Order: sequence, then structure tokens, then C-alpha cells
Amino acid sequence: MTPRTSTPATKPATSDAARAAADALATLTPRRVAQIRRSLLGWYEANESPFPWRTARDPYSALVAAVAAQQTQMSRVIEIHERWMRAFPTVGDLARADRAEVLRVWGRAGYPRRAVALHETAIRCMRPIEDGGHGGALPRDPAALLALPGVGPFTAAIVRTFGWGDDAPAVDTNVVRVLGRLVCGDLQPARETSPAAVEAIAARLLPRGQAARWNPALMDYGGRVCLPRPRCGECALASTCAARPRFAAGEVAEPVRAQGAWAGSDRQLRGALMQALRDAHAEDGASVSERTLLAGLDDVERGRRLLAALVANGLAWRARGRVGLGTRSAGK
Ligand code: SF4
Repeated sequence: MTPRTSTPATKPATSDAARAAADALATLTPRRVAQIRRSLLGWYEANESPFPWRTARDPYSALVAAVAAQQTQMSRVIEIHERWMRAFPTVGDLARADRAEVLRVWGRAGYPRRAVALHETAIRCMRPIEDGGHGGALPRDPAALLALPGVGPFTAAIVRTFGWGDDAPAVDTNVVRVLGRLVCGDLQPARETSPAAVEAIAARLLPRGQAARWNPALMDYGGRVCLPRPRCGECALASTCAARPRFAAGEVAEPVRAQGAWAGSDRQLRGALMQALRDAHAEDGASVSERTLLAGLDDVERGRRLLAALVANGLAWRARGRVGLGTRSAGK
């Protein structure tokens, strides 16, 4: 293992990030901050999306929505959230569920490792405090939230904001795009704006006591107005936006590199393996023969490798030539 050392080579990057954050904050005068807050909250007032987890004040419901929202369209998040909350209405219901049932309900909602992380989080939350758990509820403390499986800064902020009513800036890709353009004048903030600057701007703009409206306002603005191809002509923030003159002059935001092709990808093959396991589970809760599962594939070796990864990630079990969904329990 190579020990971490502090070398002079790392210092410029740190100073650059700190300088970028300081430069960005310097443009945020109290007057400009007030104008941005007023304009954005005014827009949200007229364009609010009534997603149930935003007003339920239920940390578990907020967690499910945040996990489901990772790289998923909002219209699908609603459907996944509804299905999940019907199957597992509380964190306790989820903790007690069988892993295969968790994966069946998740279905094709995105990479199933996220469902496993949700399940592991629920199990940990239900453990007694003296055993390292949280005694039957999601924690409120930011560090305790970040220590849960699959919970990063965005998910923790969503749980704190919608679940507990705390002030926490939630930064997703939409928010990065809005803030990087609005304050720094970058056209493609995902590539150009330093994370330190985005973090500093997000914290500075958040109006105290209003995170439950401010965070969704910013996220929705990035999803509906300040899109990858921005609609500057109908933007409530245009008069104070640093990127507006550049777009108006005809500059364009170079697209961020898209994900590789789906056809023939590992993602496609992994999805097909999971679907076959879900089908077998739905029929009789049983397993399938590994040989049968892999036989129809063009690339059996690749299928075997992906299956091993599914087993290693707790998505499938394999024993005596049989493969099943989730983790193996007695009788399977
Ligand atoms: S003016 Fe254009 S770039 Fe600036 S925030 Fe509005 S939509 Fe985004």
C-alpha cells in the first residue's frame, strides 16, 4: 500500500479549488443573493411539483425517493416510489423483507445494487443502538446518515431536508448546472465548475429554514428551464445570470459524454440475467440451473463473470449448480 503523503504537487489544486470558491462567493452580494432567492422561490411557487416525499416529513420516504432518483427520470421515480412504499411502508417492513422480494419489487428500476443498499440500510437502522444501529429509525445526524450503505451527500441532504426539516443543500447534476452557470458563468458546469465552488455557492444561497422549498426549486429549475440546452428566454434568473450573455452571444454548452451504447453492453447482459432470476422467483420462488441460465448467451464467459459479480454484490446466490435471486436462505 502506498502511504498518503502531502506533496507540493497537491497544493496548487487545493489552492485553485479554494480560489475558485472564493471568487464565486465574491460575486454573491447580499442584494444579488436576495434577488436570486426571490426569483427562484417565486418560480417554484407557480411551478411546484407535488411529489409525496417532499411534504410527507418521513425520512424513510425521502430516502427511498433519493435512492430511486439516482440516474433515473422523475416520472419513473414516482412510479418506483409508489410501488416500493406499497410493498414496504416503513423502514421496519423493509428490514424484515426477504432479499429476493426486495429485488423483485425493485424490478427494472435501475442498477439493483441500490435496492440492496436500501435493504442493508433498513436492517442497520432497525438494530438496537447498543449494537451499532439506530433503534428503529433513520438517523438525523449528517455523519450517521453518510455512514449508511449507499448514502452519499445528496441522499443525506434529501433525508435531512424532506424527512427532518433541516437546512442542508442538496446538490445533484441539475443543481450543479444551474449554480455553475448562474454564478460562475460556466456553460457546462459538470466539467468546468469546481466542486468546491458549487458547494460554497449552494451553502451561501440556501435560505435558512426554507430548504424543503429551496432544494426542490433548484433541482426542478435545472430539469425544466436551465436544461443542458437552456431556455434563457423564459428564465426567471436571466437578469442576474453570469452565463446568460455567453449564451445570448451564440456560445453553446458542449454535451457531457453520454453513457456507452446499451446494446451488447455489460449493463444489458446484467439486466437480462437479473430478469431471468426475477422471472424464476416470481414463478415459484425458486432458482434456475446455472447451465440453463448461461446457455442462451452469445458470450458465456462474460455471463459467468457478470454472474459472479451479482453474487459478490448480494444480488444473487449460487450453490450446487443452481442460481437464485437475492441471498440464499434455508430451503432454497
Ligand atoms: S439565463 Fe439561461 S443559463 Fe442562466 S440560469 Fe437561466 S436558463 Fe440557465
